[in-house]
Amino acid sequence: MDCSHAHSPTLSRLPARRRVTLSAVTSTAPQIGVLAIQGDVREHARVLGSLGAQVRTIRRPSELVGIQGLVIPGGESTTMDKLVRAFDLAGPLRALIAGGLPAYGSCAGMIMLADRIADARPDQQTLGGLDMTVRRNAFGRQVDSFEEDITFAGLDGPLHAVFIRAPWVEETGAGLEVLARVKDAEPRSHRAEHGMSEGPAAGRIVAVRQGALLATSFHPEVTGDTRVHEMFVEIVRERS
Ligand code: GLN
Repeated sequence: MDCSHAHSPTLSRLPARRRVTLSAVTSTAPQIGVLAIQGDVREHARVLGSLGAQVRTIRRPSELVGIQGLVIPGGESTTMDKLVRAFDLAGPLRALIAGGLPAYGSCAGMIMLADRIADARPDQQTLGGLDMTVRRNAFGRQVDSFEEDITFAGLDGPLHAVFIRAPWVEETGAGLEVLARVKDAEPRSHRAEHGMSEGPAAGRIVAVRQGALLATSFHPEVTGDTRVHEMFVEIVRERS
C-alpha cells in the first residue's frame, strides 16, 4: 500500500500533526468515514481512497466530527451491533443518519441501515434509516455465497455482484427506491449449476436507495468495479 498517498486509508495512522497538513492539501476531497470496528474496512477504504475521497476510519464518537459520508462495511451485523453500542457509537450514528448524513452499507452494513430485521438475534438492534425489512442470511445454506451479474439502476452495463451470507430486502416502505434484484429468468438447472440464487431467492431485492442512504446486499468492494462507490461518493458530493 502506498503510505505517501494523501488519500490512503493509512492516513488515520499518521501522527496528528501530519494529518492536519494533509487534510489542508486535500480540502476539496469529500471526507468519508468507514465504520472500523468490524468487517471488511480496508477494502472499502481502499476503493474510496482510489476515488479521491479522504478516508477516516471510525472507532469512537469523536472521530465522527466533520465527516460528510459514512460507509458501513460487510461483516457480521450481530457483532457490529454489539460493538457500536459498547463503543457508544450507536446513538451518535443514529442521530447523524437520521439527520441526513449520506451513508452506504454493504451486506452487514445494509442490515445496520435497515429499520427492521427478519431473522435477527434476540435483542439485535440496527442504526436504521432505510424504511425496509431485511432478512439476514436470506439466501439459504446451499447458495449462501454466490456471484451473479445483475442490472443496477443508474449504472451502464451489468454489475458483477458477490454475495456472502447476504441478506435480501423483504419488505419496502413507500420512499424506498429499488436499484437491483437478483435475476429470476434463468432456468433452475442453470442457476443451480452456477451456484446462483434460485427458488424463493429469485428476483429478490439486493440494492436500494432512500434519499442519501444507499445499501447493497453484496460486496462491490471486493470486485474491482468501483461504480457503486462512485455513486455513493457522488451522493456525498451533492449533499456536502
Ligand atoms: N450474515 C451477515 C450478518 O447477518 C452478513 C454477511 C456479510 O456482511 N457478508 O450480519
